[in-house]
Amino acid sequence: MEYSYSRLLGDTKVISEKYENAAVFKIGESVMGREILCVKIGGGHKKVLAAGAFHALEYITSAFLAKFAEEYARAAMRGEMFFGRDACLLSKNASLFIVPMVNPDGVEIVLRGGDTKPVWQANARGVDINHNFDADWQSVKDAPSPSLYGGEKPMSEPETKALCGFIRRERFDMLLCFHSQGEEIYYDFNGKTAPRSREIADEMARESGYKVGVPEGSACFGGCKDWFINEFGREGFTIEMGRGVNPLPVSMLGEVYEPNARIVLCGMEWAVRR
Ligand SMILES: [Zn+2]
Repeated sequence: MEYSYSRLLGDTKVISEKYENAAVFKIGESVMGREILCVKIGGGHKKVLAAGAFHALEYITSAFLAKFAEEYARAAMRGEMFFGRDACLLSKNASLFIVPMVNPDGVEIVLRGGDTKPVWQANARGVDINHNFDADWQSVKDAPSPSLYGGEKPMSEPETKALCGFIRRERFDMLLCFHSQGEEIYYDFNGKTAPRSREIADEMARESGYKVGVPEGSACFGGCKDWFINEFGREGFTIEMGRGVNPLPVSMLGEVYEPNARIVLCGMEWAVRR
């Protein structure tokens, strides 16, 4: 089972048609000209961004975010409780922006690429998007590669530029970056942690059963949450969804859905509480 770009197009179309509290728009385009889509739900003053599939093999994060977008929009519209929260009230206080697939070209390479399939994490030019952000940028590799090549310079890739431009325009209160796998939550960038981050990560961990982690090695720089924490001094998190060998099959969605839904909702509540 897989979650492709065309499934994302289908799911976001359904969301935009069915839910009047939701809007779908593009924030930019990939190297190959695929749309990088965002779903906005609710109209509250506080702004939270959740994004997934920075890495091609991690398309389960897109499947999660698309399902969460639809179910949260539905609960908010109908005034239903959603994992113990009043979804309608939450959506009045916070606007949730969801970018389910930052790297659509990479996902398509994994799903259609034949031999490259087991290892490809990068975009269509062989740049690892989550090592292309301007946060202590350095490249682990010196040439295009299925993973870990940070590009010729920070922000060189259209996917990175689209996300950074969007974040600068909207000035989000909180950022949640979804990856797989490991069942861990990261909140720190080289000690430059936003004031409440540890407390929030601890609560997310309690709600989800995931562990709070401190990144090591190549996970320590050039990532989206690193840049966000560095640039804005606000709370940014990386969530490593699920456990297993990437790509986690989309059949695991039922298993990862509730813990990660609780993480998003927990983050939104903290954003509102500020
Ligand atoms: Zn990743």
